[in-house]
Amino acid sequence: MDFSSFNFSKELTEGLDSMGFEKATPIQEMAIPIIQQHKDLIGCAQTGTGKTAAFLLPVIDRIFRNHTGDINTIIIVPTRELALQIDQAMQGFAYFLNIHSIPIYGGRDGISWEQEKRALTEGADVVIATPGRFISHLNMGYVKVHNVQHLILDEADRMLDMGFYEDLMKIVKYLPEKRQTLMFSATMAPKIRELAQKILNNPERIDIAIAKPAAGVAQSAYLVYDTQKPELIKSILKSKDYQSVLVFTSRKISIRDIVKEIKKVTPDVMGISSDLEQDEREEVLRNFRNRKTRVLVATDVLSRGIDVENIELVVNYDVPGDAADYVHRVGRTARAETKGEAITFINQYDVEKFMDIEKLIENVINKIPLPAPMSSGPDYKITSEKPFKKKFGSGGGGKPHFKKSGNSNHPHRGRPKPQGK
Ligand code: AMP
Repeated sequence: MDFSSFNFSKELTEGLDSMGFEKATPIQEMAIPIIQQHKDLIGCAQTGTGKTAAFLLPVIDRIFRNHTGDINTIIIVPTRELALQIDQAMQGFAYFLNIHSIPIYGGRDGISWEQEKRALTEGADVVIATPGRFISHLNMGYVKVHNVQHLILDEADRMLDMGFYEDLMKIVKYLPEKRQTLMFSATMAPKIRELAQKILNNPERIDIAIAKPAAGVAQSAYLVYDTQKPELIKSILKSKDYQSVLVFTSRKISIRDIVKEIKKVTPDVMGISSDLEQDEREEVLRNFRNRKTRVLVATDVLSRGIDVENIELVVNYDVPGDAADYVHRVGRTARAETKGEAITFINQYDVEKFMDIEKLIENVINKIPLPAPMSSGPDYKITSEKPFKKKFGSGGGGKPHFKKSGNSNHPHRGRPKPQGK
């Protein structure tokens, strides 16, 4: 379906053209007409499906046609990065429309606070905010919310995971009851349904084929003891001239060690986690986007919302705790039409978690043998053993049982083809 069927204004269509958007993605096809009919909506969709445009486009179009100058739309997101990313998308779409947005997020200086305050009092059209910082402004009493028409919650499941439930309810209390509310979430856990019941009014529901990585991602996995992971990551990075690699770990404290290991094969590596100051995080991301940094080691906070183009390879240094996080991590590669690779390291304690992921994505991921001269890793079977010492990765790493059955298959030969449908 092309975008002409939505009857967007000419100016918005020009914005879409200049961003190279020709055909609507499935979520856009489903969500935009519902939003245009002023209905509440709950959308089950992951990043990488085009959901940002699905909610921004009809809202921007409506603001443009009836521009009041007051705050029209509040978008609440879990992280600063997602706020910035949505703001950037906004600027692209609204380039010819004279519609203003402001990202609002914590961890910045007094000057930013004043800028935010000015935008909130003078009436930015669209406010994209993390919950805590927005509440701080709301509490001051100057935010003009009386004319808000749309409330959008993006990554709602992540916000609940981060403990924002009470904050979300507080924000809702400040807003006019008569409004359109849209909520997007990667999962439909019971707590999400409960939240939806509280703040949405008779919503339409759309589901974008539950959590499956984009068809262009070639997924594979290694069974590997934690102590072998440093050697494996180095071997992978040496095997090909990757220009853009994202390495995920569930544990913030592992980042430094992983970066140190990778430095032995390439100097262009950085780590990013919530421990960095906001300015530092932005700089690290900028360098990664510009390919000054070729390998970025990150925690899950980054797996959602970070829109970096053309990541060639995502490495899950450990198996994410939540199966949906796997899809988010892997969703960083092969966005839109491009191809990418995703490799997961599975230690003996993560086998069961990985089996859950395979169930969720309805796909059995190819397990490839470790490259020579590494010894074999654990078997793909559930173990009840408990890790007794943690080092790299999410599992234990205690005493790996090295088998002397060295394997000479090169891991990057015969990598599975993208799992296209
Ligand atoms: P999202 O799921 O909103 O994070 O979007 C994923 C990526 O796909 C972003 O880089 C968007 O700019 C891009 N995208 C979204 N919709 C379209 C479309 N209809 N045509 C081309 N690219 C798109």
